[in-house]
Amino acid sequence: MRPVIGIPCYEARRADNQRPLYGNNISYVRAVERAGGLPLLIPPLQDADALVGLADRLDGLLLSGGGDLAPAHYGESPRPECGVPEVERDVTELALARHALLAKLPVLGICRGHQVLNVALGGTLYQDISTALPEARRHDCHDRARDYRAHSIEIEPGSRLAAMLGTRQHAVNSLHHQALHRLGEGVRVLARAEDGIIEAIEVRGHPFALAVQFHPEELAPADEPSQRLFSAFVRACQR
Ligand code: MN
Repeated sequence: MRPVIGIPCYEARRADNQRPLYGNNISYVRAVERAGGLPLLIPPLQDADALVGLADRLDGLLLSGGGDLAPAHYGESPRPECGVPEVERDVTELALARHALLAKLPVLGICRGHQVLNVALGGTLYQDISTALPEARRHDCHDRARDYRAHSIEIEPGSRLAAMLGTRQHAVNSLHHQALHRLGEGVRVLARAEDGIIEAIEVRGHPFALAVQFHPEELAPADEPSQRLFSAFVRACQR
């Protein structure tokens, strides 16, 4: 049986009449589908108990990219550079992430999802890399194509990520202006950019809780190593 992979949605507006919608990028859906999983889009819900019931029926959870988490979730007040929070989405994703961590449900975090996983474990974020770490390189390459390889990452040798990508150095896209700061409980760094920015993590003692700051879903159609990340995730969801 193909494992069901939940992908939480965000709120958007229809271009023609501004009617509100819940959705997510097609690239995540396709990457999971190509890997043999059954993607299931999850809307933000207001009832956290209902969310746990839903999470119990999933075989895996994919936390996608998106806007900035409200800094209140990691005990900070928002700085001017921080984006406008999406309250429902924050609550939904943090509840699902905490449930996946407790229930040992496989979870793959991408970009915002990488940050959600760290915050769910009590970690914090740099609200804006360019103001907090002026020496860092540019990671916010939203003016380039989404598959533009902005920088390389150095991967922890012998790690699960090194096995998936089949390399210790990997050129990645970079579409983020925030980054992990203090690590959450049990979080282990798997990869960093040349400037030290954390680009991948996993959670100790969990069968599969892995997250990356880059966007493998945008590279995967033309890049086998990126697609292998989804294949490994879907395999973990089959157990
Ligand atoms: Mn980056």
